[in-house]
Parts: sequence; C-alpha cells; structure tokens
Amino acid sequence: MKIAIVGAGFCGLSLSHFLLQSKSCHVTLFDRNGIGGGASGIATGLLHPYTGEQAKRSWKATDAIGATLALLKQVEAATGRAVASYDGIVRLVQNAEQKAAFLSHAEQFGDVEPIEDHSFFIKSGITVHCQNYLQGLWGMVAQAGGILVQKLISSLSDLESYDHIVLTAGSGISGFPEAKSLRFGRTKGQVLTAEVPTSLQEGLKSIIGKGYLAKGDNPGICYLGSTYEKSFASEAPDQSAAEKEILPKAALFFPQADQLQIVGCSSGVRVTRIGHYYPIVARFSPSSWALTGMGSRGLLYHAYLAELLAHAIQTGDDACIPSEVLVDAMKEAVDHEKVCV
Ligand SMILES: Cc1cc2nc3c(=O)[nH]c(=O)nc-3n(C[C@H](O)[C@H](O)[C@H](O)COP(=O)(O)OP(=O)(O)OC[C@H]3O[C@@H](n4cnc5c(N)ncnc54)[C@H](O)[C@@H]3O)c2cc1C
Repeated sequence: MKIAIVGAGFCGLSLSHFLLQSKSCHVTLFDRNGIGGGASGIATGLLHPYTGEQAKRSWKATDAIGATLALLKQVEAATGRAVASYDGIVRLVQNAEQKAAFLSHAEQFGDVEPIEDHSFFIKSGITVHCQNYLQGLWGMVAQAGGILVQKLISSLSDLESYDHIVLTAGSGISGFPEAKSLRFGRTKGQVLTAEVPTSLQEGLKSIIGKGYLAKGDNPGICYLGSTYEKSFASEAPDQSAAEKEILPKAALFFPQADQLQIVGCSSGVRVTRIGHYYPIVARFSPSSWALTGMGSRGLLYHAYLAELLAHAIQTGDDACIPSEVLVDAMKEAVDHEKVCV
C-alpha cells in the first residue's frame, strides 16, 4: 500500500511511524519546509493533562499521554538520547475556579499536589525537547523505509498515484481546496528563547502562570511563551512585539525573569477547528484523510490519534476512531455547497 503524507510535524511523523509498523505500507512524506518546518518545530514542549482556562482534565487524557509517552520512550531507546524532561510542571492558578479544579484533580487523579496557596505541582507534567524528538522520530521513520520529499503540495490531485493520502499539514490545511468545508481558525504564537544564568539553573522546572516558562534541552536555555495572535499580517517572528507582550507576564510568575537574557524569537501558527474543542480526523474520500486541528495540544493528541488513524487505514475500517474527532468531510462538503448556493 503506497501512502502519501503531507506535513512532517508531530502528526505526519507519528502517523508515518505507526503505518511503517506494517511491512505492506510504503510511506512518502511531503513537506515544503522539511522535518518540523511548521508549528511542531517551534513548540515549547509542555505536555500535561490540564490545559485551558478552566484547567479541566483533557478529553482522553490518560490514553493520549500514554501514547505520547510510549513514543517518547521509543525514540529515546532508538537514539540513546533524552528527548524530554519527566520532572513535572509547576502550575500557578489564576482564580478560584482553577484552584478548585486542581484541588479536585489532586483528590481524583493523584498526579497533582498543592505546593503553596496558589500553585500546584503537576507530577505527570513533561517538557518535551521538540527538535530532538522530531529528529529522533524522523530517524526511526527513515530507518523503517519512510522517504521525505521536500515539496509544496497544492491539492490531493497532485498525489493521485498513491493508494492513500493524509494531510497532516498543520496551518497549511486551509490551502487545500478539498478541506474548504472544514472551517479552521489560525492563531499565531511567538516564543522567546532565553539564556538562563548558572545561578538559576539548579532545580529549575517548567512553570505555567499567565504565560509560561519551558525548560530547554540544556539547563542554560529556556523558552518564554507565548503570544496568541488572532489577526496577524505576517507569520514571521517580531521579537520586540513578542517581548512587550510576554516579559511583563513572565515577571509575574517568575520574579527572576529579569535575569534571563533573551537571545531569540520564533513563531508558528496553531490551527483549530472553529467552534470545536477536539482535534479532527477528517475523511475526504475512502482513501484520503486529514489529521489536524491540534491547537495548543499537539503533544497531547498526535500519537494517540495517529496510531488510531494508521489502524483505520490499514484495515479500511474507521470504527476505531472516536466519534468526537471523526469528521465525514464528504458529507460536510455537500452541506457546505447547499449553504453556499
Ligand atoms: C508558539 C507555540 C508554542 C506551542 N507550544 C506547545 C506546547 O508547549 N505543547 C503542545 O502540545 N503544543 C504546543 N504548540 C502547538 C503545537 O505546535 C501544534 O499543535 C503541533 O505542532 C501541530 O502539529 P502538526 O503536525 O499538526 O502541524 P505542523 O507541525 O504545523 O506540521 C505541518 C507541516 O506541514 C507542512 N506543510 C503545510 N502545508 C504544506 C503543503 N501545502 N505542502 C507541503 N507541506 C506543507 C509544514 O511545512 C509543516 O512542516 C505550540 C504552538 C505554537 C505556535
């Protein structure tokens, strides 16, 4: 079975990996920018079950984190290199509602404990070193026979010679005419890279407050995030604008922020499905799909959904994909046409 995957970020690489577990699958990855050329390449790596304003436990959190963790461990075994820090995340609560939610998680799930009046320690929190993870994952895919072609793809019809096509194009999904019935929102995010002085390195943990600090893959680096820009003229980083927005917030949850030396800024675009909380697995035809809409939770959901989608492609049966995320894009396209007429 010849499978084309468009996009070599978390979704495309993990899907390639799961498909290549079967000897009958031959995978070609297409990416206009190469490995991690989209949001995955600049993601700050925070992975935990309590995302969002309300700090609720995320949908399918146990299964999803389990799938990511298993893949992280596989990459580490294959590369002999750590691709994440498994030392928890500190979360400062912003209001009484969040505090009540965390107190309840502490009791119900046991992976959270109060530290002080307004902060909790998420023991299950992980900081993924995304560049190392992506490179390690790509190494495993290449080892299993996956091929990467650096090329822009404009339409599913460019890939007609393949038995299956999957769009894992992140924010690039909006450019595909086949996906026009699925309405996506795009949010630009900018992150500052900072040097951490030796005096602050020992015991430093990733922290989430109104913004966040994520540890880097060496103790001398951390990342401060993030902006959430709904309207933007350019996807490129704008360091002075990012500093203006991020640094005052960082000073509130990390009083030593003024000792960090800002050395860079990167940006990417998150994609979400308008009006929906869940990521999506869309089916355009019996042999063409999309796995996208990860928003800020790419690390949480990519491996879990990629494994299910690989199974659906290999068996021809999408019953394994939870109804919350499965979208029949053939039907949505017909409905969309009706509305437009
Ligand atoms: C600033 C910022 C910080 C973030 N931090 C976190 C975090 O801490 N934790 C977390 O879980 N998530 C985080 N995210 C979200 C996370 O980055 C995304 O959810 C995730 O990367 C989406 O992965 P993906 O594989 O769907 O898309 P992408 O990583 O965007 O991959 C899509 C790929 O498709 C390629 N492509 C697009 N169109 C085409 C085309 N037409 N032809 C060929 N190639 C194409 C692109 O070059 C790209 O490489 C962050 C996002 C941003 C912007």
